[in-house]
Amino acid sequence: MNEEWNVNTARKIYGLENYVRESLIDIDEEGYLVIKIGDNTLRIKEIMDKYNFDVAYIRILPAIRSSMDLVYNSYLTVSEAIGYKGKLIPVFPMKVNPLPIIIEAILNYGEKYQWGFNTGSIGELRTLLKLADKYTPRMLIYDGVVTESTIQDLLQLQEKGWRIIIDVESEREIELLAKYPQFEIGIRVKPLVKLHGKWSGSVGLSSKFGLTTNALMNLKSEYKYIMEKSVLLHMHPGSQVYKHTDIRNYFLEVKQVYDELKHMGFENISMVDTGGGMAYPYIDARDGEEESPDYTIVDYFKELLEKFKDIAPNPMIIYEGGRFVVSSHRIVVSKVVDVRSYSAVHLVHEQIVKTKDFNNIDELREFLDNIEKLLHELRAEQPLDNSRRELYEELIAIMREDLSSKLAELILSGRVDIADVLKNHKIARLLVTPTKRYVLSMSIFADIPDVVLVDQYFPILPAQRLNEKPHVLASISDLTCDSMGEVKQFISVGVKLQGKTPLFTILDSKLIAIPGLKLKLRGIPLHLPNRGENYYVVFLDTGAYQDTLSMRHNLIYGAPEIILREQDGQIKLEIAKREELYT
Ligand SMILES: *Cc1c(COP(=O)(O)O)cnc(C)c1O
Repeated sequence: MNEEWNVNTARKIYGLENYVRESLIDIDEEGYLVIKIGDNTLRIKEIMDKYNFDVAYIRILPAIRSSMDLVYNSYLTVSEAIGYKGKLIPVFPMKVNPLPIIIEAILNYGEKYQWGFNTGSIGELRTLLKLADKYTPRMLIYDGVVTESTIQDLLQLQEKGWRIIIDVESEREIELLAKYPQFEIGIRVKPLVKLHGKWSGSVGLSSKFGLTTNALMNLKSEYKYIMEKSVLLHMHPGSQVYKHTDIRNYFLEVKQVYDELKHMGFENISMVDTGGGMAYPYIDARDGEEESPDYTIVDYFKELLEKFKDIAPNPMIIYEGGRFVVSSHRIVVSKVVDVRSYSAVHLVHEQIVKTKDFNNIDELREFLDNIEKLLHELRAEQPLDNSRRELYEELIAIMREDLSSKLAELILSGRVDIADVLKNHKIARLLVTPTKRYVLSMSIFADIPDVVLVDQYFPILPAQRLNEKPHVLASISDLTCDSMGEVKQFISVGVKLQGKTPLFTILDSKLIAIPGLKLKLRGIPLHLPNRGENYYVVFLDTGAYQDTLSMRHNLIYGAPEIILREQDGQIKLEIAKREELYT
């Protein structure tokens, strides 16, 4: 085995060591990315080649089962350890992925846990109604706007034996529900705690959902029935709450609100639903960053049950995480259709830099400063004539390519310390900027829209050659003619590597990883495709939210779907058109 690069290195750097999906997605001895189910393994490249797809979604339905098991078993472990007597009822928030095939998977795999649903729209209710007869009845927490027509659908589900709890959020809803005493009521309260993250707007007095305590006080005196009918406290802190301390503070607030409701006379409340927020480890480095939460599902339940264990009787817990349950099940695979260079200049500057020798960082820095000064002057001169334009391009190429490989040489020969490079932002940047642009046969807008909408990070890696060290750092472009159709961030998980020597790409000498550190690169470490090779790039963890947020920009949308199921210990593979899955 190659000491400096082998499949284990790839596993670590590309983030395959992930406690949610590591048993399902791995690399085989020959460097192919594989899907493992039971004793079976499937090479992603071989599936794509076999069907001759340029782009496809692979839906690993058993990944959903595995996440559901993880949630449930974590709860059991924690509740046994601390002697918590309350039962767990998990519910799946449908907005995270309401495709019928996913809802059916939850109904099917969730049979043994009585996994229920949380929903807020007519469309989602209709999807449930269509599937309800095939499975045992579940719990449904409805938290949408309540109208006569949603009530009709809810009544139908109730007739099928489902336990329906309806959240109230306004006086109008309470008035309306007074006519339907057959429903149980959930009290949705706005959390006030300050949290980090993209969805921090989900909390606070001006947030979209829930009641304030004042409103609740007024309502309870006017509508006595609500005191009797209320069985649930429901709160929601927003999605992907990635800091352990935030989860702890949030649960403290939930516990306090629970106590207060009891105090106010809501005697029948015996269930607490803490909403979503359980963070998915897109990168499992546990450092409390947006894509890398510093707590696990076990920690989540520990924090929660610790807060509630002194309340007698112990409340029933409703787990309502969806991102955590379905993120890992869908991967996007796309073929590289073109490799473009950032710069095409190779004649003049090679000589300039080749003859120039640097012995330390200061000399390099001085040279860099001079180039930047020239670039600055040229920019001030716009528009540039042809020869000036050429010079401009050359200078950029010198920075991006030659200077960075000189720097890599200095580091590898021990003349420059990587720690000093990292301290110097401008110089460090030389080592993390891409030299190539890979064009993929896909649309970011259609396939992973959250990249555009909320700057979401998805792990990216090649489907093959993972036993070979990557050649270049490349940005990724899609087929849309929109400059936002681009991915140029890669988080390199060097935290898990042993040793001291930084790893560089073979051809353009860019940083791949530094042992002990998590690095943000501006391109993805990839191989140069061989002539005639179908080289595929894979985006992991795209199973939450992406399917329904998908956009039709440039009319580029509609990848075929490869559905993986498990049947009698074998992997069963089915091809479906994407549109077929929506009905
Ligand atoms: C969106 C939403 C969820 C899902 O949250 P995730 O953390 O993304 O799984 C759960 N509950 C409610 C009420 C929601 O609105």
